[in-house]
Amino acid sequence: MTLAGLYIHIPFCRSRCSYCDFATGLYQGELAETYVRAVVQEIGSSQNAGARVDTIYFGGGTPSLLTPDQLDRILAKVHREFDVDSSSEITVEMNPGTVTHDQLRAFRSLGVNRASFGAQTFDDAELAKLGRSHTTADTFKTFHELRAAGFDNVSFDLIAGLPGQTLEGWQRNIEHSLALQPEHLSFYLLEVHSGTPLADHIRRGLQPVPDEDLAAFATVRKTGSLTARAHFAPRIEPSEAARRITSLVAWFDDLLTGARAGRLIREGATVVVAGRPNVGKSSLFNRLAGADRAIVTPVAGTTRDLVSERVDIEGLAVTLVDTAGWRETHDVVEREGVARSKQAREVADLLVVVLDRSESIRTEDEELLAQTTGRPRIVVANKSDLLDAGAGFGDVGAGFSRLEGVEVSAKTGAGVDDLRRAIVRELTGRESLRDAAAISNTRHITLLEQARANLVAASESAAASAPEEFILADLQAARARLDEVVGARTSDDLLQHIFERFCIGK
Ligand code: GDP
Repeated sequence: MTLAGLYIHIPFCRSRCSYCDFATGLYQGELAETYVRAVVQEIGSSQNAGARVDTIYFGGGTPSLLTPDQLDRILAKVHREFDVDSSSEITVEMNPGTVTHDQLRAFRSLGVNRASFGAQTFDDAELAKLGRSHTTADTFKTFHELRAAGFDNVSFDLIAGLPGQTLEGWQRNIEHSLALQPEHLSFYLLEVHSGTPLADHIRRGLQPVPDEDLAAFATVRKTGSLTARAHFAPRIEPSEAARRITSLVAWFDDLLTGARAGRLIREGATVVVAGRPNVGKSSLFNRLAGADRAIVTPVAGTTRDLVSERVDIEGLAVTLVDTAGWRETHDVVEREGVARSKQAREVADLLVVVLDRSESIRTEDEELLAQTTGRPRIVVANKSDLLDAGAGFGDVGAGFSRLEGVEVSAKTGAGVDDLRRAIVRELTGRESLRDAAAISNTRHITLLEQARANLVAASESAAASAPEEFILADLQAARARLDEVVGARTSDDLLQHIFERFCIGK
């Protein structure tokens, strides 16, 4: 049989908090008494009378404003109308500073065994700004009074993202909370509702606009594990979490693109020109290098060694390497050259695979294309000047139609500028390097890539509605990696502390 839970709303407070948009009013003794009678009557007319109940929760408002007698009448009625389990959890919400020791003892003797109150923050200035009637001292006092009155199940709330709240302030809040050792903690992000005094203060510039990013960061970074282990009600849907994390991944992609460009700007890139003999590699090399550095002859296999030149391509420092002809050969010297060309291809940041556009694609071309598939490469169809004017890539020569490439003529220089831009784009992901990000440290790039992988995992977990522990663990891992990049220290001790004290569930 399923057990029912009862929620009883007590809609009045001594004063109204500046952020509150609940249906609640100010406490007036007579009205409270009328309300209690109405609740008792309502319980009597419940359609679920007789149901087995294992949880009773008095929420508000400030239910602790009820007198013990009023609470007694409501509970007595509940016991008459429902089958209340003897081990039921009976909670009363309260405000620090509004309860006395005698009242708490009385509540306890009526069977109330759990208390929940809004500490919200341990900073008195922040409490005052929120319009809270209590101070930090009241929070401590109430907590200790609850313990003294025999409450061994106490929960309280903190609100993150208060106007002007800092990370340090949030961390202090957690440390204070942990020091009290409550059985349960809840964290909420401040929501500014229009029509509340807080919204009005912010609009008029009397209080700063709450920093949502900081609040999210605070709750994830400083309390990630804690929230996962405490009984935390998620305030956003998993699909929304997945969407937000995915947009972060896109941001990382952009950063990494810039970062790779940054590394290439600093260290330079190696671009290897490859192709079978006589397709025009050396001629193209000279075009790109702007000098007759490589030997160009019509005899196949004349480039016997690697020729390299440091050249500037659209602002990018490129070591351009011309390789020996790509073909099986029996000439010892040339064989050595072929071996080196293979090595050069291995270390290349980018391969420029040259084909002869005036001929059909040969077996050697096919081999080279197959071997370089999946590598960063640009296919170049050279000798385009030999084609009839107007013929496009893929029109002449069997096999070209399936290739994407840049058509050039090393002889006339046609298309070479397009090739330069294609090289920069392929290497850096950008047309221009002027606004490239400054991250160029290889270790930082690796950390960013790892953080990105963590975010992808977190967004997948969120999309699959996986338990929060999984999502938070990945978010924290990403955070830790970013911390390493910026040199911040992670608060391992704090997390350790949290893990020691809390167990999953209530
Ligand atoms: P490699 O063996 O691949 O380095 O080829 P080379 O650069 O030595 O050139 C081989 C032959 O093709 C030479 O006679 C070049 O003049 C010629 N050649 C290279 N590029 C072009 C081009 O774009 N158009 C024409 N018509 N001939 C070219």
